[in-house]
Amino acid sequence: MRLVLIGPPGAGKGTQAELLAERLHAAHISTGDLFRAHLRDRTPLGLQAQRYMDAGELVPGDLTVGMVRQRLSEVPTNGFILDGFPRTPEQARALDSLLAETSSWLDAVVELVVPEEVLVQRLLARGRTDDVVAVIRRRQQVYRDETRPLLDFYRVKLVSVDAVGPVESITDRILAAVRVAPAADSR
Ligand code: ADP
Repeated sequence: MRLVLIGPPGAGKGTQAELLAERLHAAHISTGDLFRAHLRDRTPLGLQAQRYMDAGELVPGDLTVGMVRQRLSEVPTNGFILDGFPRTPEQARALDSLLAETSSWLDAVVELVVPEEVLVQRLLARGRTDDVVAVIRRRQQVYRDETRPLLDFYRVKLVSVDAVGPVESITDRILAAVRVAPAADSR
């Protein structure tokens, strides 16, 4: 199964991607985690990405796509859960090209739906270095401006899931939603 998770910061993409990867025996690919690992290891990519992450801005597309290309080439082609990528229509087109190189495709794109007031609470409770009010606001703005247009880009494969409630229930809702996706997609 090849899935993309889309949702605003705090929607729970990382948590759900981890659980889905386990249940579906797929690789979890989080661009946020990859950037943070590069930063921790002080690689040139990590150092380049740092100022964007600290400001809540998107890391430039070429750096991000190059990193994803590398990671995708390492995972078995039978499955992945992408978390945090693509984040713009341009990145989505880049992903399409990457997948076309291996004649593969996305099975579904899952939108995690959470009301805004719940999001800020969750992020403040998490307390990552970029989880301070000003940067959270900026990340939410970037989500509205740059990432939300993706929902339209992916409308044929899109399933929207209510992502408020117990973590396991949300995973079950996602699994139920993606299993019906092939029928919805059969035109
Ligand atoms: P969140 O979704 O909670 O904002 P992430 O861990 O997914 O957190 O991302 C943290 C930061 O990493 C983003 O604010 C951005 O700077 C960078 N980043 C992650 N994914 C991408 C991407 N696909 N394109 C550009 N920048 C990204």
